[in-house]
Amino acid sequence: MSIEVVEIGKRFGDFVALDDVSVSIPTGQLTALLGPSGGGKSTLLRIIAGLESADSGRVEIEGVDATRLPPQKRNVGFVFQHYAAFKHLSVRRNVAFGLEIRKRPKAEIRAKVDELLALVHLEQFADRLPSQLSGGQRQRMALARALAVEPTVLLLDEPFGALDAKVRKELRDWLRRLHDEVHVTTVFVTHDQEEALEVSDKIVVINEGRVEQIGTPDELYDKPANDFVMRFLGPVT
Ligand code: ADP
Ligand code: MG
Repeated sequence: MSIEVVEIGKRFGDFVALDDVSVSIPTGQLTALLGPSGGGKSTLLRIIAGLESADSGRVEIEGVDATRLPPQKRNVGFVFQHYAAFKHLSVRRNVAFGLEIRKRPKAEIRAKVDELLALVHLEQFADRLPSQLSGGQRQRMALARALAVEPTVLLLDEPFGALDAKVRKELRDWLRRLHDEVHVTTVFVTHDQEEALEVSDKIVVINEGRVEQIGTPDELYDKPANDFVMRFLGPVT
């Protein structure tokens, strides 16, 4: 099973943001969409999520043609760079939100939220407001909230981009460990080569609306498909 992106085209006016992009994203893995700013990574992620429609091509999620499905029918969890938490709700209620609007039984919600807060190591902060968390803790809350509705796919757009270098590194390692625990198919956007190389199972290099290479970190490193990939990955530091 997988997410199949098939010949997706997207224009903004005359500008070609995605030029017949095809990618197969394997189930259960952690995949990075990596590339320079403006390359089309977020647009592709938003099309997979159903937040933006493509001009041509199709998206299949786990064997289902999702091309024309609205976001809420795609069973995806989404985390953005700047997470919009409900400021007046506790951490617990923020995480519970998706379950509450689905009218799940109270006891079930409580158990699920406890489990998620433990998973993201925020148990002791359950009753705080989001403003009383650090930036890194807030992004962990965002992840717990995205996972609450048990999505088939977790989509993250530069989730750690707004954090300082040290916290970024911590969260990156933490995302890897979390993924190894829950195994949910995860696609995350980053422009940071090191981040992609260190945490992902597979990397899709995207530049100027085209896929330059798809491979494991080792494959990209040992056999860059072209000069662009070689230059973009740069020397090991
Ligand atoms: P990335 O996430 O790789 O930085 P994006 O997918 O955000 O790139 O954007 C790809 C290109 O499409 C950029 O040149 C951007 O300016 C353009 N673009 C994205 N969204 C819009 C939009 N809503 N209207 C016009 N241009 C857009
Ligand atoms: Mg982007």
